[in-house]
Amino acid sequence: MSSNQPLRLVPGMKVRLHEFDPNQKFDWDKDTAVSELGEWQARLEELQELLYADGSQALLVVLQAMDAGGKDGTIEKVFDGVNPLGVTVTSFKAPTPEELAHDFLWRIHKAAPPKGFIGIFNRSHYEDVLVVRVNNLVPPEVWKKRYDQINQFEKILADNGTRLLKFFLHISKDEQKERLQARLDDPTKHWKFSIGDLPVREQWDAYMKAYEDVLTKCNTEYAPWHIIPANRKWVRNLAVIRTIVETLQGMGLKYPPAEPGLDQVVIPD
Ligand code: ATP
Ligand code: MG
Repeated sequence: MSSNQPLRLVPGMKVRLHEFDPNQKFDWDKDTAVSELGEWQARLEELQELLYADGSQALLVVLQAMDAGGKDGTIEKVFDGVNPLGVTVTSFKAPTPEELAHDFLWRIHKAAPPKGFIGIFNRSHYEDVLVVRVNNLVPPEVWKKRYDQINQFEKILADNGTRLLKFFLHISKDEQKERLQARLDDPTKHWKFSIGDLPVREQWDAYMKAYEDVLTKCNTEYAPWHIIPANRKWVRNLAVIRTIVETLQGMGLKYPPAEPGLDQVVIPD
């Protein structure tokens, strides 16, 4: 991936989102990218099976974005073809009273993937320093402590065999307007439109500031953030699937040894 704009953020780097172009397409070509997607999907399918067969590690993919940022579309396209038996997807909504009665990581930890699985978080514990911060749902002294708490939590997962990949799907405010308008114009997309997304759009700048803190404070060697240019869906899909495939390839996964004596086995008639 040649570009002066990294996908994977360097730990310690102070992130300013205006320096990241949501329209970035690297040196990629759309026709090639679209035709190659199937090959990446096939590789991911094989690697997921190997992850399951190996059984000693898990992969957690965290997706965060503004409304209409493409979280659902990314999951649909990237994991198309992967065996559903080996994947868990969790969409985090506003917490229930029971969840609120526990610490903010309680519901998150329960949803973490077991060994052998890919877990996908559609929104995540980062909402607890995003929507919660922007809307003052808890006092600043509470949310400010959460960056460290999140880093410690992610370290526990990493030290216990879970690889973490975190993706921020970066769209521009104009692109969000177009996507929301498209949902409004098409009756078959009305179900995706929520009038409640409009006040959130008005808080855009506050969200970008909150995202910058997340991307700066919670970007570690063991749980790195990636900023995915997401105005172009084909760039977004390719950037995410390549990162996942390359990560799985680097995890040292192995098929378990066959049962002894397998070479003597004759299947009876
Ligand atoms: P879609 O793109 O389909 O609208 P979505 O992820 O936006 O998907 P919604 O049900 O519309 O799903 O939104 C979930 C809502 O839950 C978001 O507004 C999000 O900010 C909110 N939420 C998630 N986690 C928390 C949290 N910890 N505290 C408060 N609100 C939260
Ligand atoms: Mg929504």
